[in-house]
Amino acid sequence: MNDQKTLPDFAIELRDLKKTYGAKGKVEEKKALRGVDLKIPRGSIFGLLGPNGAGKSTMINIISGLVNKTSGQVNVWGYDLDKKPREVAAALGVVPQEINMDPFFTPRESMELMAGFYGVPEKERHSDEILEALGLGDKKDAYVRQLSGGMKRRLMVAKAMVHTPPILILDEPTAGVDVELRRQLWEYVKELNAQGTTIVLTTHYLEEAQEMCDQIAIINHGEVIACEETDTLLARLDQKKLIVHPEQSISSLPEELNDLDIEVRNDDALVVTFRANETRVMDLLNRIREAGIRIRDLATEEADLEDVFVSMTSESN
Ligand code: ADP
Ligand code: MG
Repeated sequence: MNDQKTLPDFAIELRDLKKTYGAKGKVEEKKALRGVDLKIPRGSIFGLLGPNGAGKSTMINIISGLVNKTSGQVNVWGYDLDKKPREVAAALGVVPQEINMDPFFTPRESMELMAGFYGVPEKERHSDEILEALGLGDKKDAYVRQLSGGMKRRLMVAKAMVHTPPILILDEPTAGVDVELRRQLWEYVKELNAQGTTIVLTTHYLEEAQEMCDQIAIINHGEVIACEETDTLLARLDQKKLIVHPEQSISSLPEELNDLDIEVRNDDALVVTFRANETRVMDLLNRIREAGIRIRDLATEEADLEDVFVSMTSESN
């Protein structure tokens, strides 16, 4: 399908996406998405990171056509969701947050049904290969109800890949699953990505996003509050500011402090930006004193994102 057209720069693009549940008045209104703009580069492993209730699943469910948006635009693989819903569906493999599958089919039967649903011709099917890659090779003919929770989740991933979509979306794929499955799942996902599949995953674990993703968008209360390369984001989380109020106002900074990231604020305070991992506050204070500045008062400030993460991690534990 994609051979005929040039590949899009962005696998998924959201523009001012809004969702209000219960807008028709029967139940209380809930603004789940408040104008989300997001560009997910083709070929990336992209993380949507945010606490429970942030709006991650709402976003995924709108993209995959399960939930109607209130307003805004969704573009998937170059197709507008409003105009080309079938093309959008064909470009996506989605693993929803909840496990839902018919307990009376075997994994192979589930795969074949799904392939039929997507209209994959018999000759182009490779169900066995996918099941094998996900460590379900010896369970192909077992009943789904005999599979463990982890195996069911892997089967959901396998089913999402039957039509070899260029984009795979995983909504909280490792919530409540064991370490071994996590490892196996990530290996498979990384392999798919190496072959060109764009991966989007949601999680409320910073470590997971950090380990897997090239780029991370942080979602909170239906808004994207940061969207950056993982390394840049982590560096920003580690960033702190030391605010020093000197006894006398300083006309110019002493030269020996030139190597620091330092500025003089309007109220005469010195603001030093530093990495908490690399620099100790004590050492900074000593340098400032040695440069002849007498300190009247001081304070430290964390990057704003840190607050978000403190609340996130406390919620997920
Ligand atoms: P996340 O996946 O990040 O945990 P969700 O997208 O599931 O967040 O939920 C975002 C917000 O929307 C939450 O406040 C949730 O309670 C609300 N919500 C989700 N689904 C519905 C629904 N079907 N009806 C009403 N409110 C909903
Ligand atoms: Mg969710």
